[in-house]
Amino acid sequence: MMTQNNRVYNFSFSGISTFKSCPRAYKYRYIEEIPEAFNTIEAHMGSSVHAAIEWAYTQRQENCDPGTTEILDQYKQVFWNSGGLEKTRIVKTGFTTDDYFQQGKTFILFFLNSLFPQDISTTLYLEHKFEIYLADGIKYRGVIDRIAREESGFLRIIDYKTGRAVSPLENFQLPSYALYVFENNIDNEVRLCIEDLREQRSMAVSFSRGEARQVRAGLIKDIGQIVETAEFKTNPSILCRWCGYNHICESAYQSAKESSGEDRGVGCPMCGGELVQRNGKYGPFMGCSRFPQCRFTRPC
Ligand code: SF4
Repeated sequence: MMTQNNRVYNFSFSGISTFKSCPRAYKYRYIEEIPEAFNTIEAHMGSSVHAAIEWAYTQRQENCDPGTTEILDQYKQVFWNSGGLEKTRIVKTGFTTDDYFQQGKTFILFFLNSLFPQDISTTLYLEHKFEIYLADGIKYRGVIDRIAREESGFLRIIDYKTGRAVSPLENFQLPSYALYVFENNIDNEVRLCIEDLREQRSMAVSFSRGEARQVRAGLIKDIGQIVETAEFKTNPSILCRWCGYNHICESAYQSAKESSGEDRGVGCPMCGGELVQRNGKYGPFMGCSRFPQCRFTRPC
């Protein structure tokens, strides 16, 4: 991949994943820098859980190990009072904000009962932002949930998952974090760990400096595809309902309709909101009650 005119390209794992899942969403977010119309409740719950875990380890670093009640209170405080709920949308029909709060609470309870008390590793970094150069003109950045030193001496790179997780080597996320750790430490091997709060399991694999070199090459290849893309095609699927650009994307409605197999007739197929009758220039029509955030319409 060639870079031009001393230009520096900035990428992240989440940017590359967005491109792979839908090039158009990548264009809206990373090239045109359009803010998303809404945050998903799943993301809000996930960031609230992460904030509580970060708080717990920060307290431990300061030698005041917090108890269950304090950590749950912290989660409750962030979930309900951090202001994040204002722009949040529940896409799945039949679920309430409290359902997601309770789900996050079960994740925190698993952390409190099975992970935190037994963890004797030393935390080095929490929510650690990093930046590395993958090659001339290609910067790669990310945020690592936690880096800790085990008693055995191994460095652990830890990611707390509230969504679906398969393995630490499922994609380049954790291996790319190891690239940064290898650049800044003399260790030749680290452990990549996923704490899967949803499935209540821990997954860890060893990862070497040599393997990291292949990851660098893989990331550069992925980035090359993005840089050389001329047309950022839409990739409609059921996931369009969770996409914060579905109010401006021409493919969103069709995808929701096809993915659900029917035009459901009751709720808005784009965002799950309520359909209400409105009167327009050409007569009555059905529109989403969440207008202008959602612009779905159809004939009566
Ligand atoms: S609505 Fe669907 S097709 Fe359009 S940008 Fe979002 S994910 Fe892509």
